[in-house]
Amino acid sequence: MRRHLALLWGADSSDWSLIAKYEIPKSLPIFAPGAQGVTSAKISNNIYVAGDYRSTPSQNGALLSGRLAAEELLFDERS
Ligand SMILES: Cc1cc2nc3c(=O)[nH]c(=O)nc-3n(C[C@H](O)[C@H](O)[C@H](O)COP(=O)(O)OP(=O)(O)OC[C@H]3O[C@@H](n4cnc5c(N)ncnc54)[C@H](O)[C@@H]3O)c2cc1C
Repeated sequence: MRRHLALLWGADSSDWSLIAKYEIPKSLPIFAPGAQGVTSAKISNNIYVAGDYRSTPSQNGALLSGRLAAEELLFDERS
């Protein structure tokens, strides 16, 4: 960790001390190699779901999933 921080900050981190370490089990959805990317957000009539687990486990994935769910809902409303 010190080595990576030294690279990130361009500083000598050899005497930096660890303040805390947190382990968060199941903090992210599993996204195994070969997993399907984005799927339809519509799970039943008038029910749409969104979240990182629907696309990729990241803020970007959560935002993408939310946008696609909204677009799918709007498309269904107009058709
Ligand atoms: C420690 C950590 C660091 C991370 N760092 C990064 C990072 O640097 N960059 C990055 O892109 N991503 C990062 N992520 C991932 C990113 O935070 C998530 O992928 C993203 O927040 C998922 O957003 P979401 O809206 O899908 O789900 P969440 O943010 O998990 O939101 C789901 C919400 O639903 C609520 N909820 C759950 N069940 C119910 C229920 N039954 N009824 C009502 N509400 C319910 C929860 O309380 C929660 O508020 C990190 C995640 C963790 C845990």
